[in-house]
Amino acid sequence: MQENTIAAISTPRAAGGISMIRISGENALGIADMLFKPISRKEKPSEMDGYTCAYGRVFSKDGEELDDCILTVFRAPRSYTGEDAAEISCHGGIFITERVLRAVYDCGAVPAGAGEFTKRAFLNGKLSLTQAEAVMDIISAEGKAFYRRAANVKDGALFKSIKACSDKLLGLLGELDAWVDYPDEDIPEVSPENMNTVLAETLYEIRKISAGYDNTRILKSGIDTVIAGKPNVGKSTLMNLLAGTEKSIVTDIPGTTRDIVEESVRLGDIVLRLSDTAGLRETEDIVEGAGIEKARRRLETADLIIAVFDNSAALNDDDMRLIESCKSLSGVKVIACINKSDKNSVIDKNIIINSFDNVIEISAEMGDGKDLLQDVLYKLFVTDSNIYNDISVNERQKQCLDNAGKCIEEAMTAISSGTTLDAINIILDEAQNYLLELTGERASEAVINEVFSHFCVGK
Ligand code: GDP
Repeated sequence: MQENTIAAISTPRAAGGISMIRISGENALGIADMLFKPISRKEKPSEMDGYTCAYGRVFSKDGEELDDCILTVFRAPRSYTGEDAAEISCHGGIFITERVLRAVYDCGAVPAGAGEFTKRAFLNGKLSLTQAEAVMDIISAEGKAFYRRAANVKDGALFKSIKACSDKLLGLLGELDAWVDYPDEDIPEVSPENMNTVLAETLYEIRKISAGYDNTRILKSGIDTVIAGKPNVGKSTLMNLLAGTEKSIVTDIPGTTRDIVEESVRLGDIVLRLSDTAGLRETEDIVEGAGIEKARRRLETADLIIAVFDNSAALNDDDMRLIESCKSLSGVKVIACINKSDKNSVIDKNIIINSFDNVIEISAEMGDGKDLLQDVLYKLFVTDSNIYNDISVNERQKQCLDNAGKCIEEAMTAISSGTTLDAINIILDEAQNYLLELTGERASEAVINEVFSHFCVGK
């Protein structure tokens, strides 16, 4: 139990139907007694059972009536924080809500820091660190796929997967410890083959979990996407089709898209952060030349390139340059779009098909191809079979997983080169530490403070 009783407004600071002020800590119900007079029942808040509520009036410390409200009582340990808690739901005006909060402070509560309610839930053993982090993800979720992953982590899915890895390591560490600590006893030496099997299995799991990071990031913040192609293939038309507006200038004069036009569009659960770039064409024009250089740099840093080709024209040097540029990039996903499918086909499709894993035929002008594009996007970014698609992984968690993975690799190399078991024991202990830091079972105060500093006040 933390010594302070904290309070904050848990709903957005905006006019609305209802606002909620949450109070948590040893004196939460004592404070509620001071400022709340029940109408719908006789008992004071401190006499009420947990999970019950009362209609009544809330007063300032000086006895001025502030509002009528509903007060809900939670009793430790059956509350979000694990402490005694009260929630006051009053009318949702900013002025009223802040006055009620001021009254709560005047009665002895202190302002809650960012994420402090959830931090207390973690410190009181109500949530693991990964579950606490998922709370913020649930709040920020904008689509079903990301929400589902965050909700699974909140339900303990990531914790369980990590625990399974950590238990495997723990088993191995136990055997190694016994062998190292009691050299005189008749404990059989752990066989390198057995160790390698367990470590390889654990490493595979860790990598599969860690690989979900990119997928999580993309579902959360959108796919950084470049629409590339020579002038006049229909990049602006495609962007307008996706965005549903006339944002890019569409003309049939090559080179009209002078610079990068940016737009966010949603396709189902996926948000594309689109840039419609100048075509990758050699040019003498200085203004357009600067745009093209920018476009080239953008290709290298994107998550996704939509490479557009014109069905009604033969491939030329600019197209071939784009194909080569895409092939030379590593870690960037590419979808080739053969546009203008409504026109007679002149393009050598085989060159495109042989150069790209994902090829679709669309007609941006006719509004045809959005669904096809969405299907490929899902295949590439949502249902990848090399990762766990049901859990979200954030940057901190990925760091811990990758560090644990590196230690395991190091241990495997050490085993094959015949290093002593006590040295291997030390390396595996470090791997175990990273996994326990991830779940919060052995996280430093600095790590915990860092995690909760990203939360909002009132959560
Ligand atoms: P960009 O230079 O690559 O951005 O190309 P634009 O989007 O400006 O399009 C160039 C020309 O091609 C315009 O006249 C468009 O109307 C036309 N266009 C774009 N997409 C299609 C399509 O799918 N079919 C046909 N027939 N014309 C298209």
